[in-house]
Amino acid sequence: MTATRSSAAAPVAATLARRLEGAPFATEIRERVAADVATYAKAHGHPPGLAVVVCGRSAPSMVYLERLLKACDQVGIKGSFVDVEGETPAQQERGLAAAITRLNDDREVNGIIVQMPLPTGVRLRTVIDAIDPLKDIDGIHPLNAGLLRLGYEGFIPATAHAALEMVHRSGVEVVGANAVVIGRSPVVGMPLASMLVREHATVTVCHSKTRDLTAKVRGADIVVVAAGQPGLVTGDMLKPGAVVIDVGINVVNGKIVGDVEFESAERVATAITPVPGGVGPLTNALLLSHVMRAAQRQDDVTETAAARQDSRP
Ligand code: NAP
Repeated sequence: MTATRSSAAAPVAATLARRLEGAPFATEIRERVAADVATYAKAHGHPPGLAVVVCGRSAPSMVYLERLLKACDQVGIKGSFVDVEGETPAQQERGLAAAITRLNDDREVNGIIVQMPLPTGVRLRTVIDAIDPLKDIDGIHPLNAGLLRLGYEGFIPATAHAALEMVHRSGVEVVGANAVVIGRSPVVGMPLASMLVREHATVTVCHSKTRDLTAKVRGADIVVVAAGQPGLVTGDMLKPGAVVIDVGINVVNGKIVGDVEFESAERVATAITPVPGGVGPLTNALLLSHVMRAAQRQDDVTETAAARQDSRP
């Protein structure tokens, strides 16, 4: 396809960027997970389980929940949800802690996620204090964040994992690349920056206090945007040939858009994720793969403990 419009400031590529659609990659991942789930279910007599804890229902959170439970069904994972009630934040926190503790002890639940954002006044700390790090499949526990930071295996937040997967699927050489990550949240920006450093990219993390964002972005071979600011990155800010991963989800005039101005960026980038349809579909598929991995890791821990017990004099 040939570009039909040129940007005033940026050199324009002769062809439009390759669109990194999430759906085909997500299908591939789900097929792999479904095969592993079947093997696990045969060996254990029950499928792996994912429990979603919802504290304070809202329309978007119920839509997300339904989608996730349907995705569980598709691959054979037993999905369930716990609705935490309570009139006050203190009651909700007590309910949340009790629900998570029960799920920690349930051998047929391998992964737990707590729907975010929590209601006003309910502290994330309540979840962190309660959740078993071995069941924390969305990587919110500081133990998992610390393992990632130090380069050990732990659970990575699924969104950061999906963004990294998109970087890989773009085909860009990560080793030695200049990467800019816009956003420093514990669920997207920071874990992604850690993973890119681990893969030998040179990473600059930008945030709302960053001076001259354009200069930082212009030097980047890989740009990941997770700021929640529509139109934050435009084509004229990009280095020609950059790979652009847009994690943002915003609603503008009733339409879902990302943080990147797609029309101008696709004329300069070499590969770009659309919103919707890019990182989002991959996130759910990877979350399912985390449930499967949690189940396998819990088996390893049980076997190691049994072996220790057997070797005692
Ligand atoms: P967040 O916790 O609000 O963090 C946003 C980050 O962006 C912060 O670090 C903030 O800087 C930075 N930022 C805000 N405005 C900026 C600006 N003008 N210039 C540079 N940096 C700026 O959000 P999040 O949870 O990380 O999510 C980020 C986006 O990803 C949101 O749009 C969210 O809806 C989306 N998301 C997508 C998925 C998916 O599956 N695709 C999943 C989760 C989230 P400070 O730290 O200085 O405040």
